[in-house]
Parts: sequence; structure tokens; C-alpha cells
Amino acid sequence: METIVIVGGGAGGLELATRLGNSAAKSGRARVVLVDRWPAHFWKPLLHTVASGKHDPQVMAIDYAAQAAEHGFEFARGEVLGVDRDARRVSLAPWIADDGAEVLPARSIAYDKLVLALGSVTNLFGVPGAEQHVLTLDDVAQAETFRQRFVDGCIQASARQAAGAQNPGIDIVIVGGGATGVELAAELSHSARTLARYNVHAMDPVRHVRIRILERGALLLPHLHQRQSKRAARHLRALGIKVLLDTAVARVDAGAVVDTEGCIYPSAITLWAAGVKAPPLCATLGLASNALRQIAVAPSLQALDDPNVYAIGDCANFVCPILGKVPPRAQAAHQQAVYLAQVLGQASPSSAPFAYRDYGSLVSLGSLAAVGVLTRGSGRKYAVGGALARVLYALMYRKHQVALHGVVRMSAQTVADWIREKISPSVRLH
Ligand SMILES: Cc1cc2nc3c(=O)[nH]c(=O)nc-3n(C[C@H](O)[C@H](O)[C@H](O)COP(=O)(O)OP(=O)(O)OC[C@H]3O[C@@H](n4cnc5c(N)ncnc54)[C@H](O)[C@@H]3O)c2cc1C
Repeated sequence: METIVIVGGGAGGLELATRLGNSAAKSGRARVVLVDRWPAHFWKPLLHTVASGKHDPQVMAIDYAAQAAEHGFEFARGEVLGVDRDARRVSLAPWIADDGAEVLPARSIAYDKLVLALGSVTNLFGVPGAEQHVLTLDDVAQAETFRQRFVDGCIQASARQAAGAQNPGIDIVIVGGGATGVELAAELSHSARTLARYNVHAMDPVRHVRIRILERGALLLPHLHQRQSKRAARHLRALGIKVLLDTAVARVDAGAVVDTEGCIYPSAITLWAAGVKAPPLCATLGLASNALRQIAVAPSLQALDDPNVYAIGDCANFVCPILGKVPPRAQAAHQQAVYLAQVLGQASPSSAPFAYRDYGSLVSLGSLAAVGVLTRGSGRKYAVGGALARVLYALMYRKHQVALHGVVRMSAQTVADWIREKISPSVRLH
């Protein structure tokens, strides 16, 4: 029986482990082992809602061990530090508890086939000061850090205002006008208003909680129609968010962001959301990769240099013959997980190549609106907006839940989420 090790339990890796567990592992054809550095899975496209305090990650996260027990795969917790491709072993760092005690020593796991589903990390593009002074949204811990800094920052600014400070308020700069930056800005604007309603701060949530998006290009959301990009910018400006286009960041200081024209933007909290690259581990494996460290894969999703290694999701560089480079999106990770589950789950794997299908893109503008583009089978694109787009956006997460739990459990969770939303504060303070 061969052992398939999947490293990374994100949008692609957990779905693949669940599908392979249900098929190959339960039928005794393969042993499936999922490795992740965290104990639970949180769907990354919702990280901005953790950062704004809207969602509680503890409630929405899925315990890997429980999912593994239900779906026939094994879970090993630990950070993968390296892969010995000759010996076919992945090495895991010791697992250290929060109090510093060692729970498990360094270990290694043998594989016959290895799937890398490591996701991505924020790309700071070497901008001076960014490493030291910006926050990023790569995982739940970082999103929680942002939320805490945001709430604390509002409380402090409010206290300064009460003490008669000259320039009251708080400045928040989001670098990057892509989906992450836009979605976070819209949610933060809502949270600032809610915190005022809860008397957490006594500031005007629009005039004194100053949110700026700095975007290097001429449009927000450049992957959408120009009309949709402009619609998103109008929506954000109506919320009081300052959208600065054609503004490239040259340097980040402790309390400010400086652009290439020398303009200084005060910033108590700077969030960098200007692009991603594959994690450093990808560059240590001796596999061909691009400038973003993404592993080059063939249409079978096998690494070009090693047929026993596969890569999916954000850490893979797959160039589709028709659509070009597949973007780092949850829908790509999902499609690749479905494809690999079929290929690796069969006794005699098919050689049909992976074909990426672009279904479009949706960007949330808060609880009631979204903008996006839907792509039909013919390749024709349709712009969508408003409440309809928001409903379609919400369905993306429900689709992910169906892939992991089935329709019945997804429906029960949707009802539970609705009830929870009605009985919980709309911004988390603890
Ligand atoms: C705020 C935000 C909004 C987004 N919105 C959208 C959207 O609307 N639509 C869309 O399609 N995409 C969206 N994305 C992008 C989407 O989240 C990613 O493309 C998708 O999650 C990639 O899936 P993945 O499986 O490749 O990696 P991930 O989901 O990032 O999972 C990677 C996993 O690997 C684990 N890992 C990494 N390194 C190691 C290691 N060394 N050892 C052990 N474990 C490791 C991590 O802990 C993680 O669990 C958004 C992203 C963000 C941050």
C-alpha cells in the first residue's frame, strides 16, 4: 500500500486529503497523511473578516484530527522543514507548545508520493522598512494580531482625543488595492462604526478612523472589468475610505508610509496586501521554480524534476495552454485538488491533463455588496454587482464546506452561522 503525504491543509490540501481519504484510504489502496503546522483549518479567503473582528476563527475552524478520523486519513501536526527527495522523507520541526515545552521531537515521515499544498506568503518586494513595520494577513494568528491592534488603536486614539490632542484620530494604511486590500478596507469601515456604537471609542468613525488604500496601478482590482473596478472605488469612497491610485510605496517607517513622490502618509497600522509568493521552503527542494518560488508543474501537476512530487494551489506554477498562468486563488486550489484526488485515488491513474477553468472572480465590499465577473463556459464574461454578487460570494465558502462535509452538514452549519450572527456582537472584542 503506497503512502501519499500531503503537506499543507489549506483550501487545496484539506480538500484533497478528504477526497483521497474517502476513496483511496477507506478502500485500503493507499495510506493518506496530511501534515500542517496548525491544529485546525481556516479558509483563507475569510481572513479579512477575522482581522476586522467580524468572524471568530475558533468557531469556523475545522480540527484536522477530527476531519481525519471522519474521512479515513491521518493527520500529523508539525512544520515541514525540508524534504529528502532521494530517501523520500519529509522532516518535521519539533512541536513546541505555547509555554515552550516540547510536545513532540523532530520527526520524519516516509512517502511514496508527496503533494505540496503549502499556499503562499505575502510578497514585500524588498521595500525598505516593510519587514519591520507592516502587518500581513497570511494566517489566523496574523489576522488576530491585526484585530487586536485595530481595537487597541481606536481605544488609544479616542483617549488622546478626550485629552485634547491636536490631531485626533487613527490612520490605517492598506498597501495594495487587490481583493485582500479592498475586502479588508470595507470590513474595517463597518467595524469602526460598530465600535463607536459600542462606545469602545468616542470618535467619528469616518472622519477620525482614517483608512487609506495605496494602489500602485491606475485601478483597484485590476483583474476585474474597468467598470467594476471603478464601482468598487466609488463604494469605498462613499464609506469614507481614501483610495489613492498610481501611488507606489517607496519606504515604510514606524508611523508612516512614504510613496515614490515623497508624500508621507501617517499610519498607526500598516497592512501589506500587495501580492504573494510561495513560502521559502519551496526554494530549498531543488525543484524548478519561478521568481515567486512557485514550483513548476506539468499538466499532470507533477513537479518537472520529480514525478513523485506534485504541487497544487498558490505554491504551484501551472501555465494553462489556453488561459495562461493559473492565478493564486482558492478556485484554482479546489480544481487541482479535485483533479489530483481522481488521479491519485485510482488504481490505474488516468493520464488526462489538468485543465483549469476560470469561473470568474468576486470581491466582497462588506455584508451587503460585492463586485465581480462571472465567466461562462463559452469564455464570455459577465459583470455582476450589488446584493446578487454578495450572495454568490457567500456561496463560495458554502461550496468549500460541501467539499469537506457534504450538503447536509453544510446546510446545518449555514443555519447555525445565521443564528450565531443574530445573537453575537458584530465585532469581536476578545
Ligand atoms: C484575505 C484574503 C482573501 C482572499 N479572497 C479570495 C477570494 O475571494 N477568492 C479566491 O479564489 N481566493 C481568495 N484568496 C486566495 C486564497 O485564499 C488562496 O489562493 C488559497 O487559500 C490557496 O490555497 P492553498 O491550498 O494553495 O493554500 P492555503 O489555503 O494558504 O493553505 C496552505 C496551508 O499550508 C500550511 N503550511 C504552509 N507551510 C507549511 C509548512 N512548512 N509545514 C506545514 N504546513 C505548512 C499552512 O499552515 C496552510 O494551512 C484570498 C486570500 C486572502 C489572504
